[in-house]
Formats: sequence, C-alpha cells, structure tokens
Amino acid sequence: HPAIEFHDVRFGYRRGEPAAMTQVLHGVSLSVPARGLTAVVGPSGAGKTTLFQLIERFYRVDGGRVLLGGRDVEGLPLETLRGLVGYVQQDSAAMRGTVRENLTYAQPHASEDDIREALEMAGLGAVVAGLPQGLETELGDQGSGLSGGQRQRLCIARTLLQKPAVMLLDEATSHLDSDSERDFRDVLRRVSRQCAVIAIAHRISTVIDAEKIVVLEDGRVRATGVHRDLMEND
Ligand code: ADP
Ligand code: ADP
Repeated sequence: HPAIEFHDVRFGYRRGEPAAMTQVLHGVSLSVPARGLTAVVGPSGAGKTTLFQLIERFYRVDGGRVLLGGRDVEGLPLETLRGLVGYVQQDSAAMRGTVRENLTYAQPHASEDDIREALEMAGLGAVVAGLPQGLETELGDQGSGLSGGQRQRLCIARTLLQKPAVMLLDEATSHLDSDSERDFRDVLRRVSRQCAVIAIAHRISTVIDAEKIVVLEDGRVRATGVHRDLMEND
C-alpha cells in the first residue's frame, strides 16, 4: 500500500454562529509512496497544512477518504494513528532542557541505541558527541553550540524515535542558509529510505530531490511530478 492516499477529499472549516463554511479542499486525490520524499508545494492558503491535519484526523473529511497504509484513518484508533504519523514539531527556537530531554520527552523509554541511531540519521552523531556534556548538554535559549539547522534536525531525530510510518514536515527549510539546507536535504534523503516523508515547502527549489512533488493551489491538485517535469511546465 502507499503510505497515504487521498481519494477525492473535500473539506471546509466551520466557524461562527450560525456556522459558515470555508471550503478549503475541493476534491483532492493524491498518493504518497511508502518510501521516499514527497513534497507538497503551493502558495500560502492553498490547504497544505490542512492536508496534514486530515492525515492526523484533527478534523474529519466532508467527502472522500484518507487512507493510511491502505486503511481509512476514520477507522483507526487514535493511539494507533498517533504512533504511525510523526509530525516534526519545529519549536527549535524555544528549546529548554538538555539534548536528551528534548529528544525523549515524547518517548521517555527510548533506548540508548535508538537515541544514537536517531541522532546519526539526523546527521547529529558527531555534533552531539562534541558538545561539552554530550546528550546532557543544556540547550537553553542560546549559546548551546547548536546552530538553527542543527536544532531543526534535532526535531527530526525526536520524531524518528517515534518510529513513524509517515513523517510530516511543515515549512521545512524556510529559514536555513544553503549549507544547512544541504544538510537538511541529506537527512531527508536518509530518513525517507525508512519511512514516507511528506514535506511542505514554499518553493519547489527546496525539494528538488523529492521523488514526487504535488502542487496544490486553492485546494486543488494542479500538477504532480518530479522537479524536472514541473520546471518544464512552468
Ligand atoms: P497552507 O498550509 O497551504 O498555507 P492552510 O491549510 O493552512 O493552507 O489553510 C487553507 C485555508 O484554510 C486558508 O484559507 C486558511 O485561512 C484556512 N484555515 C486554516 N486553518 C483554519 C481554521 N482552523 N479555521 C478556519 N479556517 C482555517
Ligand atoms: P503559524 O501558522 O502561525 O506558523 P504555528 O507555528 O503554531 O502557527 O504552527 C504552524 C502550523 O502547523 C499551524 O498551521 C498549525 O496548525 C500546524 N500544526 C501544529 N501542530 C501540528 C500537528 N501536530 N500536525 C499538523 N499541523 C500542525
């Protein structure tokens, strides 16, 4: 099975009293392979974040179906769903506590081997080993010795400890310099050999090595392809 399938998904947010509807997704169909990097690009307001929230079943679809590993998310116990879908929380600016605490607060029973492996996957093995107190180094507000890009990859390592089937990343590389962006892309490539990765990006250039790019505009899929195809059509 593909990791994720959307079949003709319709969705709108309800708000106000009497309830008004903001139609956001107008019949979206797409599929995300079980391995590899799938990018979702498109302008602000296109509905990209909403796709993620439907995968996580924060909201229910108004029409169509969302499948995870071939199973309708409606029928999955929430606990199962939460285990399968890893959302990379990008709170890299506001990290408190030690490296270890940041990695394991959602997975307090993670083994040392798993922690090491997650750090390696995120390209942080040597970085953390080089910190004054290794895993026990305080991240604090600033000055911990981790760059913005490294902190972002720490967020990925944290999600890896969950061993998700699908990893969701929002606005992945928007604030990174080109070196950090390259490191980040390397990490995504490695991670996407183990699970499906779906990354939201503002620009196609940040996801040039995606196996699949879905262009979403006004709640509709405008194009699907690899980077080269989409650039030719532009
Ligand atoms: P994107 O991630 O592509 O920027 P979103 O999925 O965040 O797009 O938003 C799509 C549309 O839905 C936008 O018009 C946005 O204003 C609206 N929207 C997002 N979240 C909510 C919400 N919780 N309530 C009402 N409208 C929302
Ligand atoms: P902003 O939209 O102002 O950047 P945040 O930085 O708090 O707000 O969150 C960024 C986006 O990520 C928001 O649209 C929010 O709805 C979304 N988001 C937060 N947590 C999750 C999650 N677990 N899964 C999917 N989307 C999430």
